[in-house]
Amino acid sequence: MDINFIIQELERKHPGEVEYHQAVKEVLLSIADTYNQYPELIKAKIVERLIEPDRAIIFKVVWIDDKGDPQVNMGYRVQFNNAIGPYKGGIRFHATVNLSIMKFLGFEQTLKNALTSLPMGGAKGGSDFSPKGKSDAEIMRFCQAFILELWKHLGPDTDVPAGDIGVGAKEVGYMYGMYKKLTNRCTGTFTGKGLTFGGSLLRAEATGYGALYFVEEMLKRRGETIKDKTVAVSGFGNVAWGAVKKATELGAKVVTISGPDGCILDPEGISGDKIDYMLELRASGNDVVAPYAKKFASATFFPDKKPWDIKVDIAIPCATQNELNLEDAKKLIACNVTCVAEVSNMGCTTEAIDAFLENNINFAPGKAVNAGGVATSGLEMTQNAQHLAWTAQEVDLKLHQIMKNIHQLCEKYGANSDGTVNYVKGANIAGFIKVANAILGQGII
Ligand code: GLU
Repeated sequence: MDINFIIQELERKHPGEVEYHQAVKEVLLSIADTYNQYPELIKAKIVERLIEPDRAIIFKVVWIDDKGDPQVNMGYRVQFNNAIGPYKGGIRFHATVNLSIMKFLGFEQTLKNALTSLPMGGAKGGSDFSPKGKSDAEIMRFCQAFILELWKHLGPDTDVPAGDIGVGAKEVGYMYGMYKKLTNRCTGTFTGKGLTFGGSLLRAEATGYGALYFVEEMLKRRGETIKDKTVAVSGFGNVAWGAVKKATELGAKVVTISGPDGCILDPEGISGDKIDYMLELRASGNDVVAPYAKKFASATFFPDKKPWDIKVDIAIPCATQNELNLEDAKKLIACNVTCVAEVSNMGCTTEAIDAFLENNINFAPGKAVNAGGVATSGLEMTQNAQHLAWTAQEVDLKLHQIMKNIHQLCEKYGANSDGTVNYVKGANIAGFIKVANAILGQGII
């Protein structure tokens, strides 16, 4: 495979879509050697077929704000690949959303969903609508307008969306409500739904819990446990909340969270009602963490700072793509970090990942570490199809096993000759092999 040529072609066809190019390049670099051992995949042009989405639906969303004025936003759904199962992936509402970001997320989702071992293809959707500072009524009207256009492309066996940045249970509820009204069917065609209308127990916690189960496996390989380790977390949304909750439950001490306004350092650890307060912060809709330091005397707020220059054992980025760059990586390395588990999708830049790997820091990529969220979405789909609801314990057991399996896949495909694991390689190859064989087996379509 001539990676340079493939990337050049991608850039020529889709100029300026930098995040999409970055995600594809990272994967191609790590799968190249394996791919070149399979002439049947090369002959069938599997890579060229996999890196282009099946389709991208782009639409305008017109809605009325509280003043009675119409507002116009963009809407997207990139149905990336359904070789393994129905398109599946979240919806993101954030001012930065554009086609490139939707495509990179859809591509990552395809490989991630393959890692879960559940029958789900990959997709991503969203809008440049920013929920920040919007009233509840405005958010509801926006969600309804968004679905008024998108509903015809969705379905339980076609495409099942969920939440992502800016889209939590409330927004999923508004979107699913409108979808149900238009189709007149209770098909559960959304995951992350409210518990009273088909949602799964533990879906809210799943991404963060799954990430910590994965970290436990990483540490176990080194003969360590997470108990008494110090942890830096970025972000303060649903995913960060689940990660802080599970890390604390397992005996670690989480000393940071962060938001677009800056970083909170709480040397006493974020536990108990401090964790619950994260939910309040998020629900306020202001997208800031500063109020945490006003409420809890043990904490300090550092405006415009990231949590990566603090001495911790483990770093867990839970905010957004490219949030951790080379400079941040160098700071963490200087602080003797030993494990970096990326929970945000493509949370670390390529240069940051290279720095971690060169310095023998245990680094695992988002598509492996954060797969517990979408895996539990898959479990929600199963419960909906069975017209049953499992207990939290049942869901947790399955989630835990799925994360252990993903770790095993990384070990299998990412084994280094010195006995360590290259998790980037392991996750990319394991996901790719599965999707590649599924594409190959279904002929040229
Ligand atoms: N947005 C989440 C992710 O990046 C969850 C997707 C889902 O549950 O479908 O995996």
